[in-house]
Amino acid sequence: MTATTDSTTATAVRHLIGGEWLGEPVKERRNPARPDEVVAELPDGGPGEVEAAIAAAAEALPGWRKTAAPARGAILGRAAELLTARKQEIGRDLCAEEGKTLTEATMEVQRASDIMRYHAGTGWRLGGESLPSSLPNTHLYTQHEPLGVVALITPWNFPIAIPAWKLAPALVSGNTVVMKPAGLTPLSVQHMAECLIEAGLPDGVLNIVIGSGSTVGDALVRDERVAGVSFTGSTDVGIKIHEIASARMARVQLEMGGKNAVIVLDDADPELAAQVVAQGGYGLTGQACTATSRVIATPGAHDAFVDALTKAASAWAPGDGQQDGVKMGPVVSDSQLETDRSYMDVAREEGAEVATGGTNEDFFFQPTVLTGVSQTMRVAREEIFGPVISVLAAGDLDEAIAITNASPYGLTGGIVTNDLKAAMRFADEAEVGVVKINRPTTGLDLNAPFGGYKQSSTGTFREQGSTATDFYTRVKTVYMGA
Ligand code: NAP
Ligand code: MG
Repeated sequence: MTATTDSTTATAVRHLIGGEWLGEPVKERRNPARPDEVVAELPDGGPGEVEAAIAAAAEALPGWRKTAAPARGAILGRAAELLTARKQEIGRDLCAEEGKTLTEATMEVQRASDIMRYHAGTGWRLGGESLPSSLPNTHLYTQHEPLGVVALITPWNFPIAIPAWKLAPALVSGNTVVMKPAGLTPLSVQHMAECLIEAGLPDGVLNIVIGSGSTVGDALVRDERVAGVSFTGSTDVGIKIHEIASARMARVQLEMGGKNAVIVLDDADPELAAQVVAQGGYGLTGQACTATSRVIATPGAHDAFVDALTKAASAWAPGDGQQDGVKMGPVVSDSQLETDRSYMDVAREEGAEVATGGTNEDFFFQPTVLTGVSQTMRVAREEIFGPVISVLAAGDLDEAIAITNASPYGLTGGIVTNDLKAAMRFADEAEVGVVKINRPTTGLDLNAPFGGYKQSSTGTFREQGSTATDFYTRVKTVYMGA
């Protein structure tokens, strides 16, 4: 690593308010794989920018609401094409700002494009019901109306896919938006906004304020003009947002943390189990809400599985995600690195063993397997958000399901087995929003509902799929008599 600062490739990130790109750069974001490389120069918004952005969104609302839904969808369709056309370039910027590999980053840009394309079709399908009325000569029907101005607050770990899966259903439903992307990764959202503007999105329909969560995010959540807040991020922040927004009767959608478990039963092929767990635990550097962070193995599976996982981990050596052959990128930030490292001390103090990994060089944290973990240990209960897999032992399926459900979180959960009865029992009894049988806990189809149970989610409105627009619409019932 050199000591020089290279800002020649840095992109200027700006607020987007009422169709104008605004703000002076006062901060920078560096590439965690190459800390001397400045990826983006950013402004730091405050109450003034939030006020202007909400005012612009409120002003744009009547016109956007009146725009025919298929026409709103058509803009998303054109943006989808532009995102696909710019996939390599945006993927490189995403890789540089977040650290995930170029393959993961490019796939994520394609995912954002696919989501836009999916919701281009939603524009043709939004609607209500027509019902028989008990009154004579009366037409009884429902219509789904936009909420109004909505705030979208997003985390750094999927810098373009999460903003896309909130923004596309919000826009196609006729809402106007103020978005606050994570301070660590605002560049990908700027690219998505550029595509939407080029596709014909009117001024003020999408506004973006760059700045910290405690300033910009908090001001958005408190503003009476914001009718709905959709947030993805940590459970602690989510709970605070819920308190503030619910107190003023705004609609709130929260998708939060996870401590996702995979059960490995005696009959499982240890190699297959190790592949499934490694992909779920080390893919995306373990920095996914759906990442596998616990494995619960039954007695006949435990030792062979630990051997296979320890070997599989060696294929996930961390490196610069822009280089060919690297499967796992760096940790995103100093504070996340400190978290990952501190849990290694916690694990040892509580009596777990670091079977492999546990060390880092710069932001490159080795894929880690912890063994001898029990459910009372912090590494079995708390979300680490790094490439760390804790292996627990269970006597049988009953105990394994009980351990799975002992977590306060309930996002995703998996099982590796060929025993159909065991798989069906797990699918039925796991207290999680997404079940994966013989598949990694990460990886979602965009046409299926997504969300967690318990402290992973508000559990009221699902994201993605045809359910995605539920959060962004309210239902009006009309009795029309002649
Ligand atoms: P985070 O720290 O909770 O931040 C999420 C977003 O909220 C960021 O934009 C952040 O802004 C903002 N924020 C922070 N404090 C705020 C406040 N007081 N009021 C309003 N907004 C505030 O989460 P993160 O570190 O970015 O992401 C990691 C977490 O996200 C993990 O817990 C992970 O499990 C979760 N996650 C969940 C899902 C899911 O779908 N369930 C998906 C992905 C990630 P700044 O950071 O810019 O200050
Ligand atoms: Mg955070």
